[in-house]
Amino acid sequence: MSAADIDKQHPLETKGPRFGIKKPKARCDKQGEMPDSERVQIAMRNFARDFGAHVATYMESCIHCGMCAEACHYYVQTNDPKYTPIWKLEPFKQAYKREMSPFAFFYRTLGLKARVTVEQLEEWQELIYDSCTMCGRCTLICPMGIDIAVLVSQARHGMFQAGLVPHELWAAAERAEREGSPLGATPKVFKERIEWLADDHDVEIPVDKDKADVIISMSSIEIMKYPDSIVSTARVLNALGENWTIRLDGYEATNFGLLSGNSQWQKDMSMKLINAAIQCGAKLLILPECGHAYGALRWAGANMYGKPLPFRVMHISEFLAENLSTGRLKVKTVDKSVTFHDPCQVSRRGGATPAGRVVLNALGVELREMTPTGDLNWCCGGGGGVVTIHRADDLRYKVFEIKMKQVNDTGAELLVMSCSNCRLTFDDGQAHFKWDKTANSLLEMVADNLVEG
Ligand code: SF4
Ligand code: SF4
Repeated sequence: MSAADIDKQHPLETKGPRFGIKKPKARCDKQGEMPDSERVQIAMRNFARDFGAHVATYMESCIHCGMCAEACHYYVQTNDPKYTPIWKLEPFKQAYKREMSPFAFFYRTLGLKARVTVEQLEEWQELIYDSCTMCGRCTLICPMGIDIAVLVSQARHGMFQAGLVPHELWAAAERAEREGSPLGATPKVFKERIEWLADDHDVEIPVDKDKADVIISMSSIEIMKYPDSIVSTARVLNALGENWTIRLDGYEATNFGLLSGNSQWQKDMSMKLINAAIQCGAKLLILPECGHAYGALRWAGANMYGKPLPFRVMHISEFLAENLSTGRLKVKTVDKSVTFHDPCQVSRRGGATPAGRVVLNALGVELREMTPTGDLNWCCGGGGGVVTIHRADDLRYKVFEIKMKQVNDTGAELLVMSCSNCRLTFDDGQAHFKWDKTANSLLEMVADNLVEG
């Protein structure tokens, strides 16, 4: 899909500059009271802050081949050219060309690139929030290596500062910053939950140890919706005889600062985990079954901290894989056929693609891979904060049809994954489509089949 094709299918605005984007059909949410001109100014200022050398390289490299379109579940399921990944960045690109590119002066003087308008930013809200999970599939396919997912993430910074974030995502981020959790899993709620789970399941869950070798984190989705994850984590660490702890001053691994586009909140959320790990002298911080939590700390944590992290960071699936491989952890054989859903942020974006397979191999299952799989696996459609945005539900269900087909085609008895956000998306999709497949946690599968002693 070339830029010219997009222009044809999206006729010009009748008002405002030639840009080729229709007026938004979807609701556009705004935070704060400010004139439209101020929103644009703030967005531009914040875009400019992100215009480093890598953005310039990306922006100058696109050859308009359109290959990214076929990689994106939104385009593939709708055939709507506005969902072409690079098109989602058009106002960002327009701002770059006009303000920062080597020919910015000419673009401005000759009127070759018009100013970005508030109408474009409103239209853009749907494109970079509702219809981008930052899954990075387009990034992998792009022959020029343009990291569209990271550009979308950066474009969200300006949108957040301009008060142009989908309401639910903004509210979740604001609550996480204020209360310490986007879903109400405050330290008090979490502590009560731990006490109840420890009692109910007769498992030791150490909290707030002064010194520990291993510190674990949880996602609020697990705490509030899948609390068995907490029990399963405890069982695994206890079976290994680790000196471990949960710290109530830093446990929430989800990072809605990152998802919403607020860099300061992203840093605040990461620093809670980092400081808690430092406080107890942990050598290892384990991230839970949450994809974006992995990216936020494993790959962006040191940037937030300003220097290398003084401890190791692992996703729980990597931790399981390492300990099963060395024989420290032993499991019974599971006589089932299984298909594994790769969470985008753990596999494609995170680089931990083999971990889930090592674990499933140790469990002795018959692994039936989806097509495509691994780094090229299709996204569940709920990442990047999309699952929180209600107005995006219909589109999300549409892209979820790809996943259902992928899973059904394997004919596997069990569907397993290592991300609670994916699991939530699958559970919701299952209910919506009355699908007969249930999403299972890789961690819980290991914990349920531990050979102890
Ligand atoms: S695949 Fe890469 S080069 Fe081709 S249109 Fe998309 S961003 Fe541009
Ligand atoms: S990151 Fe994923 S959802 Fe976003 S444009 Fe690329 S392929 Fe589509």
